[in-house]
Amino acid sequence: MENSALFVLIIALSERKISFQITTRSAHEISICFENRFGFGKIEALIMKILAIETSCDETAISIAEAYGELGNISFKVLADSLLSQAMLHREYGGVYPTLAKREHAKNITPLLQQTLDKAKMFEKANSPLTRDQISELKELLTREQELFVLLIAFLGNTKKPDLDAIAVTAGPGLEPALWVGINFAKALSIVWDIPLIPVNHMEGHILSSLIKDDAITPIEFPTLALLISGGHTQLVVMKDWSRYEIIGNTRDDAVGEAFDKVARMLGLEYPGGPEISKLAQSAREENLEKPYSLPRPMINTDDFDFSFSGLKTAVMYLIRDKGSLTDTDKKQIAREFEDSASEVLLKKTKRAIEKYNIKTFILGGGVSANKHIRYIFETHLPQDIEMFIPHVELTGDNAIMIAASGYSTIASKEKISKLDAIEANGNLSL
Ligand code: ADP
Ligand code: MG
Repeated sequence: MENSALFVLIIALSERKISFQITTRSAHEISICFENRFGFGKIEALIMKILAIETSCDETAISIAEAYGELGNISFKVLADSLLSQAMLHREYGGVYPTLAKREHAKNITPLLQQTLDKAKMFEKANSPLTRDQISELKELLTREQELFVLLIAFLGNTKKPDLDAIAVTAGPGLEPALWVGINFAKALSIVWDIPLIPVNHMEGHILSSLIKDDAITPIEFPTLALLISGGHTQLVVMKDWSRYEIIGNTRDDAVGEAFDKVARMLGLEYPGGPEISKLAQSAREENLEKPYSLPRPMINTDDFDFSFSGLKTAVMYLIRDKGSLTDTDKKQIAREFEDSASEVLLKKTKRAIEKYNIKTFILGGGVSANKHIRYIFETHLPQDIEMFIPHVELTGDNAIMIAASGYSTIASKEKISKLDAIEANGNLSL
């Protein structure tokens, strides 16, 4: 992370003027006008084919989707999807190690792109020499990623330009060194293939991931409430319309996924700890174990929509310290009590927000929404008249399908105009 300021500076110096402007001319005809230093470009398509890139944390993910229609009526079909998780490599550090994440993204992203194009039947070998200008552009852009530069030049020089209309890339939030790899890679493709680049907010991706079903982005009734629970976030977000977000609650310290991971570590479980805690807690329920431990429910009755999970984590730490040693049964009981505490707090605050904001639709999103108990609690305890969306388990964690959905949603929202040189990694990007 300490290199990120220098990194930003180098990228800023190397950026070129490319901008794009979007107009949706009818429900099925969309155009994107853009400008780069080699001239103007215009993409018009009945159906947009989007390449999406995600590198915000420890997953390198690329997808290709085709989409058409306006907000609230979007057809969305995934043509190919690839995901490479680095979780095993980060295990020995007990969490994500940013320098390693960046290096792995840079090494893997080019072969992953080829694989994804191949899956979508869009990969064709062809002699496609880059111009001297293009090579010097890319060289400058990828100054900090020499290995990636070499791989990418070789790939582009031997690959026919695929039939793609736009590229979407995660711009934040996340680990900046990791985000920059995806962004610079996407910029390079945007320059060489002469197609626009659309920056995407990762959290919008998590929201939309629960709506991706049956080759569409499911229309929803507003106001909608989204509870985003992941390794980096615990947020309650009110959506008054598509692309209009108001964050009403946030964690004041640890994110809930972070608390799962830290408690797992205290119990001697491996990273990522969420699924491990979940398994132990499930055993405790199945075996009908007693409940000898009681942990706090932080901020459960406060008059706001904020959360705090660091006290809960510390309470587990004291509990373990006081016990001295833990049997397998102790571990299961602690995991269950911890999971109960976290889910009760999440549920209570969500119910209050539903009432206060007259919510019609509820969305659960983020890596922790893979948790079976949390899914069950929300499925069974929300008011009957609320329509609820939970992502398919495979779309709960970081993935590029949700980035493609968010990218198309940006295109269809007509409002956003972005310049290539303004696209930067922002570790704290907010909705
Ligand atoms: P981020 O985008 O913040 O990196 P993700 O959306 O990838 O996070 O979610 C990762 C988090 O989800 C990790 O903290 C992980 O432990 C947690 N997680 C994954 N599966 C489960 C589960 N079954 N129960 C609880 N937490 C889980
Ligand atoms: Mg995520």
